Amino acid sequence: MTPKVYINGKLFDKPDAKVSVYDHGFLYGDGVFEGIRVYDGKVFRLAEHIDRLYDSARHIYLEIPMSRDQMTEAVISTVKANAKRDGYIRLVISRGAGYLGLDPRKTSDPQIIIIVDDITMYPPELYENGMEIVTASTIRNHPHALDPRIKSLNYLNNIMAKVEGAKAGALEALMLNHKGEVAECTGDNIFLVKRGVLKTPPTDAGILEGITRGAVIELARAADIPVAEMALTRHDVYTADECFLTGTAAEVIPVIKCDGRPIGTGKPGPITRQLRERFQKLARE
Ligand code: PMP
Repeated sequence: MTPKVYINGKLFDKPDAKVSVYDHGFLYGDGVFEGIRVYDGKVFRLAEHIDRLYDSARHIYLEIPMSRDQMTEAVISTVKANAKRDGYIRLVISRGAGYLGLDPRKTSDPQIIIIVDDITMYPPELYENGMEIVTASTIRNHPHALDPRIKSLNYLNNIMAKVEGAKAGALEALMLNHKGEVAECTGDNIFLVKRGVLKTPPTDAGILEGITRGAVIELARAADIPVAEMALTRHDVYTADECFLTGTAAEVIPVIKCDGRPIGTGKPGPITRQLRERFQKLARE
């Protein structure tokens, strides 16, 4: 079935789903977005994604011409129209078409776009055996330049780091912040386990506050695993007992090597496995 794409209240077949080349989302990366999962016909943590979307929009002075409830309804109806039991939703709000010039006041009509398609995850063997990451030399955006808490349409920062990772043979790259601390990976948050404590960088390390990250923290607390949101360095990564990444597309994926150093035993650890299983259960509940 051809995917049906929602644009401003109407559904279009994928080949007909188009926006203007004058759209500032296209010209300048001026807009915000969300990536959301559908598990067994149910949208995972939709309210949290909608909240993050509106927060991102608020930060960039983008007024979404629709209430949160209407947005929620639009997402659910687009999923239904695509008859997808399991898939990925890309919700995009771009600034809209305007003159050639940065000023958003010269634009009109923010475009509300909802794409529902198949989900691409990491190769299955990596969930079983763990993945390798490398540290990128490109640091994560300084929060005073473009706050990583905004999920903006401008992902060049992460793309540069992703390319560095790919050139070094890794599917994901670790990004440090302007202080040299661990921030996150290019499209995933990072967790470490050390002596039974689950550790992850805090929001003020300059990260996207992942919805999956939040769910995993809740699951860990419910399982009596102590959680610390704290500044971490590469030393902490190299000397961790376990490491894993979280993300909407990635779910929970073990990391077994960073910058050529094996992490812990060099195999996915027990707390990682436990949290992965608990997350999969939660997502399909
Ligand atoms: N960090 C970045 C930079 C991301 O783009 C994403 C989303 N792909 C994440 C973390 C994970 O966030 P979430 O769990 O909400 O998908």
